[in-house]
Amino acid sequence: MPAKYVIHTEQTANRFRPLSKSGVIAWEEGCLKCPVCVKRQCVYGVYDKRGVDSRQMMDSIDYLCMNCFRCVQNCPKELIHKSLNPEYVAMGDYHWSPDIISRLWYQAETGKIPVSGAGYPGPFSGPGFDSMWTDMSEIVRPTRDGIHGREYISTMVDLGRKPGYLLFGEGNKIGDDRPEVISIPVPIILRVPEFGDLSELTFEGWARAAAELGTLLALEPGRISPFVGQKASSLMPVLDGSNMDTASIPEGIRIIEVPDQDGFQEVLDWVNDSFPGALLCVRVPMAEGMVEKTLALVQAGVSIVHLEGTWDGRWQDDGKRFVKDGIRAVHLALVEKGIRDGMTLLASGGLSMAEHVAKAIICGADAVFIDFPILIALECRMCRRCLKELSCPVDVAKAEAQWVAQRVINLVGAWHNQLLEVMGAMGMRDARRLRGEAGRAMFFEELEESTFAEMGEIEEGVELE
Ligand code: SF4
Ligand code: SF4
Repeated sequence: MPAKYVIHTEQTANRFRPLSKSGVIAWEEGCLKCPVCVKRQCVYGVYDKRGVDSRQMMDSIDYLCMNCFRCVQNCPKELIHKSLNPEYVAMGDYHWSPDIISRLWYQAETGKIPVSGAGYPGPFSGPGFDSMWTDMSEIVRPTRDGIHGREYISTMVDLGRKPGYLLFGEGNKIGDDRPEVISIPVPIILRVPEFGDLSELTFEGWARAAAELGTLLALEPGRISPFVGQKASSLMPVLDGSNMDTASIPEGIRIIEVPDQDGFQEVLDWVNDSFPGALLCVRVPMAEGMVEKTLALVQAGVSIVHLEGTWDGRWQDDGKRFVKDGIRAVHLALVEKGIRDGMTLLASGGLSMAEHVAKAIICGADAVFIDFPILIALECRMCRRCLKELSCPVDVAKAEAQWVAQRVINLVGAWHNQLLEVMGAMGMRDARRLRGEAGRAMFFEELEESTFAEMGEIEEGVELE
């Protein structure tokens, strides 16, 4: 049995006070001046420690309060209230919601799995990955001593070309048709997000994290500084098609990504000449026609295809279709043609939670890219001020490379543990076996169709008896 893959997480403090979900409002008017005020009874000493963070103009009470509601309930004149923090509520957008952002902050700070309490208070179903439930039937027989116990769960995946069988030549030596793969110990590849207040320090930190995790960092060649270049084996240069200037790409890279474009064979030859031995990944927009494109690429000899969705987890040409459905469509078409096992399918687009990794793999991806989570791990609030060239409220660009690296390691460590939890509960012991295992999940649309389709549709104006 191989040595266990362990991600070494470490508490890594925030540089700025995180925005808290709620705030305390304490009125003075009508105060009875009780001999022992409920504020003095706060077991966390929140009122005694109260102060103002002058750098961020924040009242410390909002982030120190542990939400026990003791003071709120015990004030005889009901002068103390808790309310939602409007700054928190306004954070992010419909996809990168305040809850998702604050959970990513927590995981990057602690390396731990966020626990929200007993039971699940959320909606029954939702868009995208939220309409998919994983089969946790083995949770009644969890591994005997937890996810880090004796029962081995492998999260390693292979990127590249895998022949269906090996041919042995003279002297029982393996012939020319041998596998060409890179193995990464976790099915997560880091990818530079579309925007952010980024600097060389940020890229350095992300490259360090990728190297330490044993995975890859996908980034444009122009962002490869001499330091980042030292981590060549952990880099995945991403070319955009219009600029094929590769001067900054260091020797020793193992994989390179190019867009799907006309004259593809020339690009393939050029990559083979310029970077002998490096694997080629072709990026295909997640949009109508991607199935045909992917089939054509694989039949032309491409071994790694990256389906690129949008920042909010949808198809690039249709905001009503989700990454989950795109991965399934392409995976099933490849299975139908009998060419799925020889290639690797990667997916990106809006993955914001650890469960999305497991769900994307069940839909048919071998591994996924995460982009904005590695920015949010650096305290980003998704305010998009950097897009307007305004100052960043948390100075992401100034963060030290080591801090950046550890925050991302913590985040991936927490996601890795959640992946182990999910796989353990499903009775799966290998991420490679989880790929395309749709029988391990239920899809809301399919259940709805199979349960209610035969009942027909209710015409407008018809009343049920
Ligand atoms: S709600 Fe609880 S923790 Fe918060 S200030 Fe009041 S007593 Fe302290
Ligand atoms: S916090 Fe705002 S300005 Fe800073 S990186 Fe994030 S989106 Fe950009």
